Parts: sequence; structure tokens; C-alpha cells
Amino acid sequence: MEDEARRLDETDPLPTLRGEFLVPPAPGGRYEEAAYFAGNSLGLQPRSVAGRLREELDDWARLAVEAHTQGRRPWVDYHELLREPAARLVGALPHEVVAMNSLTVNLHLLMASFYRPAGTRTRILIEDSAFPSDSYAVAGQAVHHGLDPAAAVVRLKPRPGEDNLRTEDVLAFLEREGGTVALVLLGGVNYLTGQLMDIPAITKAGRAAGAVVGWDLAHAAGNVPLRLHDWDVDFAAWCTYKYLNSGPGAVAGCFVHERHVRDASVPKLSGWWGTDPAVRFRMDPEIAPPASADAWQVSNPPILALAPVLASLEIFDRTGMAALRAKSERLTGYLAGRLAPLGGVEVITPADPAARGAQLSLRVPDAGGLVRRLAAAHGVVADAREPDVVRLAPVPLYCTFHDCHRAAEALSDLV
Ligand SMILES: *Cc1c(COP(=O)(O)O)cnc(C)c1O
Repeated sequence: MEDEARRLDETDPLPTLRGEFLVPPAPGGRYEEAAYFAGNSLGLQPRSVAGRLREELDDWARLAVEAHTQGRRPWVDYHELLREPAARLVGALPHEVVAMNSLTVNLHLLMASFYRPAGTRTRILIEDSAFPSDSYAVAGQAVHHGLDPAAAVVRLKPRPGEDNLRTEDVLAFLEREGGTVALVLLGGVNYLTGQLMDIPAITKAGRAAGAVVGWDLAHAAGNVPLRLHDWDVDFAAWCTYKYLNSGPGAVAGCFVHERHVRDASVPKLSGWWGTDPAVRFRMDPEIAPPASADAWQVSNPPILALAPVLASLEIFDRTGMAALRAKSERLTGYLAGRLAPLGGVEVITPADPAARGAQLSLRVPDAGGLVRRLAAAHGVVADAREPDVVRLAPVPLYCTFHDCHRAAEALSDLV
């Protein structure tokens, strides 16, 4: 089976880009390199990041304040460099995206604009297994509007005995109670189960019900192809340190649909980077927001934190999401096939490749203990979501079929 895995690596239509990344040494010493399955938590460092960072440090040293306009990539416009690659990544028009802040901050800024509870339409729909930060953020928004979060936040649960939400149940809820929903804010790919939601169908139903529909794409950006503009999504935000490999706490992304960027009446929590760059340094007291997602920027961007995002997006541009997704389905499918015969391993991720990203979540007793043993005995890096879920992300940029083989062998040994 090891030979088979090696053969798959050698013959795959998209050869691995593992060489572009710094793969950590394997814990435990049995292998040289880790089989790294935690890229849905923190992606590996592209080798090109250090050079990109060094250039900005050099410009700072050489030019200091002049680097804002005279640097090799002038800092006043630096975020512009990320616009087109980010737009390609999420299927947006260039003026619908901007890189800024971190994910939860962006969710708050976007909800400040788009969560406008009024009359009987006050509720926010999330999934019961939402990432905690999202739960806290929507509750915080409800409180900010003087509402009781217990009443304002609806947490949709899977059916009893099931692990994943059914699209039909989300649509039925919106049909039934959509009139009370001000905002739908779901994860595009669920962080815990790896389920890929039907973003176009839910967006359509939410908007038809009169709600605003936003998506948290933390686990979707760089993982699955997206067409945010065509799907008519109102807004979205994502972090860049998971599948986008831009480093811990890296600068996040956000999307605002063209129909809103053209509407100057949308309220915003503004700052000086949200004014038209042509007049920014006139230092006027009144803001003149551009008709683009840039109007949501607040502060001047952290260049040293944007440089890794730029380096990372260059790698995505080299392959494109379609080829990456195809490889991702092959890798995750191979791992799923290897895990299927193992007793004691229950995969809670949807079995349908179209309904999942690059992740398999396993329900096991003592997830933390298993993750420690996977690392120590086999150099396989996974992560635990206590008490009973282990997540494995076969990231197509740098994980190989051989890594999946190692994970399967390790699990068959340990469970
Ligand atoms: C990773 C993740 C976050 C983290 O938010 P930060 O603001 O970047 O710390 C939030 N929401 C989801 C769904 C995530 O997966």
C-alpha cells in the first residue's frame, strides 16, 4: 500500500508543491518530515515568505517614511497588490474585496453595516457548531443593539443522531421563519466537521426571505472554489492563516457585494483608510469613501503582516482553485478510502466529496490522547477538538498520498 501511495504521488496530474513550503520535522524521530494534517488550523510557511518580509524590512531600513511612496512596493498602495489575487480566490470582482484586520474584527465591522435589526426582523441565524468566536461575535452584536442574545441568536442543529446540517432543513427554516431573520451568518466549511455548506442555495433562500446573508469563510477560502459575486452573497470574511498559509494571526480578507459598495448610505465604522486615497492626505474632516470594499478599511494596514499574504496568494495563482480542488478531492477521497475499513474510526465528515472540503473529522474516545500518540509514534500532526473529535486536513498544496498512507497506518495501529 505504501508503493501505491508513492505511485499516486508520482502520477497525480497536479504534482505536489510541497517543495515550496517549510515542512516541520516529524515529531518522534521515525520519519524525517511531519505528515502535516493541521493546515486547517495553521498552514505551513511558504519558502517565499521570508524574502518578501526581508524586502519590506530593507525598505523600512533604507527609506523609512519615504517607503510609503518610494518603496519597491509603496506602502500607501500595498493592499492593492492583494486585491486581484484575493478576488480570483473567492470569485469576486476586484473592488469587492480587501485584505484587512483579522477575521472576527472584520465580522464585527461587516455586521455593524449589515446587521440592522428592526421591528420583528431581529434574529441572527448561525449553526449550532459555529466556531466560538462567531458565537461570541453575534451575541455581542445583539447586545450592542439592546437585544437579548438568547432570543436574538438562533442556533440551527443537525437532526437528532446526525452530525451535519441538511441544506433542506436550513431552507425549510428560512421558509418558515425567515421573516424574523435579519442576518444569516454561517460557516462556508464547518470548522469541526469539515462540511461544505451549499452556499449558493442558502444564500438564495436567505435573501429571498428578506435577510442579509454573510459567510464566514475561515475554512473555505483556499480550500474550495468560491463564486461570491455570482452567488449574490452580501458579505463574507475569512482568515488567511489556515488554508491560506499566511502565518499566525495574518491579515484577513473581506468581501462586500458590488450592490453594497455602490450604496454610499450603508453605515460603516469608518477610519482614514476608508476614504478615497486620492484625497486621503488632504486630511479633510469629512470622509469620502470609494465605491469599493476599501471603504470598510479603518486603519493603515500592517505591511509586515500583509507581505506573507502576498507571497501566499502568488502560490494560489500558480495553480488556481479548480486544479487544487480536484487534487484535494483525490487526496481526501484516498484517505477516506483507507480509513473506511478501520474499526473504531467513525468519520463524521460528509461522505459526499461535494459536501466536504480538505478535511476528515473522526469521532474517537480521548481525542487529545490519540493526537499525542499520532505525533509521538508516527510523526503525524493532527488536532483534537475535545472531547471526541480528531481533525485531519489533507491540504493539497503540500500533503501527499504518502502522508495519507502514514496517517492511515498510524490510525490502524492506534485505534
Ligand atoms: C479560525 C476561525 C476564527 C478565528 O478568528 P480570528 O478572529 O482570526 O482569531 C473565527 N471563525 C471561524 C469559523 C474560524 O474557523
